[in-house]
Amino acid sequence: MNNWEYAESVESTSIVNIEKKYGIFIDGKFQTANSKKFIKTVSPSTEELLSSVTVGNKNDINDAVESAKEGLKIWTKFSGTERAKYLFKLARLIQERSREFAVLESIDGGKPIKESRDFDLPQVAANFFYFAGWADKLELSWNTKGLKPYGIVGQIIPWNFPLLMLSWKVAPALATGNVVILKPAESTPLTALLFAELCQEVGLPPGVFNLVTGDGTTGAALVQHPDISKIAFTGSTAVGKYIQNETAERDIGLTLELGGKAANIVFNDAAIDQAVEGVVNGIFFNQGHVCCAGSRLVLQEDIHDEFVSKLEKRMQSLRLGNPLDKNTDIGAINSKDQLDKISKLVNEGIEEGGSIFQTECELPQNGFWFKPTLFTNAQPSYRIAREEIFGPVLTTLTFRTPEEAIEISNNTEYGLSAGIWTEKGSKILWVADRLQAGVIWANTFNKFDPSSPFGGYKESGFGREGGRHGLLSYLKVQ
Ligand code: NDP
Repeated sequence: MNNWEYAESVESTSIVNIEKKYGIFIDGKFQTANSKKFIKTVSPSTEELLSSVTVGNKNDINDAVESAKEGLKIWTKFSGTERAKYLFKLARLIQERSREFAVLESIDGGKPIKESRDFDLPQVAANFFYFAGWADKLELSWNTKGLKPYGIVGQIIPWNFPLLMLSWKVAPALATGNVVILKPAESTPLTALLFAELCQEVGLPPGVFNLVTGDGTTGAALVQHPDISKIAFTGSTAVGKYIQNETAERDIGLTLELGGKAANIVFNDAAIDQAVEGVVNGIFFNQGHVCCAGSRLVLQEDIHDEFVSKLEKRMQSLRLGNPLDKNTDIGAINSKDQLDKISKLVNEGIEEGGSIFQTECELPQNGFWFKPTLFTNAQPSYRIAREEIFGPVLTTLTFRTPEEAIEISNNTEYGLSAGIWTEKGSKILWVADRLQAGVIWANTFNKFDPSSPFGGYKESGFGREGGRHGLLSYLKVQ
């Protein structure tokens, strides 16, 4: 099928300024770290070197903790109203500089500009506004009254929504009176570094927000520091388990937001064209680098052929390419490692007997890319149907009865999200009641709001982010 002719519309990068080298942000300023080790952050769409970023070591974490202790002394003296002023200022500055942040996010992470501009950044600002609004109401609220902040919170975030994950973690932590040491992912540190500049601009007291860039060793040093009172982690189940083990003998707060393998269930009475759109959004949004991605299409058997044919046609219209082109639907895979992981799992899916469909798009010469991919004829036992691929790969399974749909959907070690497509409201409620998933969307997918709690069951982790539940994750009984 020929795509429509179109003219490129590439967002200018002149708005962003990337330093050649970055230090770490503690005591309210950028500093040269103790560590002399650097990692290179590259653009995944061009493989061009963007910057060198410090790999913080134990001494840097120690310094960040000392800075956070000083910050905590000031921050705890502030009333909720005072804390809210800083958070509102941050929210407004994020809005003012949202184009800059969006371009930087797309350069560093490879996501399409229309997603970083229209999804990530509005959500980031909304999170700061939402939690700013809570800061002065904690004493008035029946379910937060009498609870106290943890103190120094260590936060470790992944590369799929770098600034959005920062906002999910930093905004509620500061609103509730905690101070923060953040460790961003090694492949996407740039928007967190720009956020540190905003903290300076709003005059956030030194030590309230600290940023130590680095790799897994930096994250581990943060987890192991005895003066950290709470760890909030988003990332892989394997690292989540390591953190849970590491902190098991300490009196420490812990929330883990881990992987997923969500079922997107389509019944034969669903509005098919709408469901196709929802399924496409569910798996191809952000190249499938989404913990709650609808990566298993659980399809009622009698609509299988019609649905798959419409889905393949729609997939063929997805534009893959330059993340900064406003027409792009599918950007770059975040890193070479992630591309290798996706390729390996897809090859195993073919070997196991799955039928593969990939769109006919051309892949750019440089960078890391993977074609939108659909597997049919798969068995629930295949790795592609069980493991989180974290890429633009959808696996189809079929069912005959609602009971079977539920059994297939719950047949996973994960339990983060799910989708239900049917025109019957009663069926939605009946199915939702039986699904083991933290978030369930009905006749839509990937809808987020700062007031809505998000989190998992089983190996998808525990604790909630967002809403009042998200506030409670940063407060403890004294
Ligand atoms: P990781 O869990 O390895 O990384 C998440 C964060 O933890 C990063 O900041 C990482 O640092 C840090 N980290 C790594 N090792 C340790 C450690 N021992 N102690 C403390 N912190 C650590 O995920 P990956 O980025 O490697 O992705 C691997 C897989 O995880 C993906 O394929 C996907 O399946 C899943 N994933 C799930 C996400 C979700 O939202 N649920 C998000 C991202 C990934 P660094 O980046 O420097 O390694």
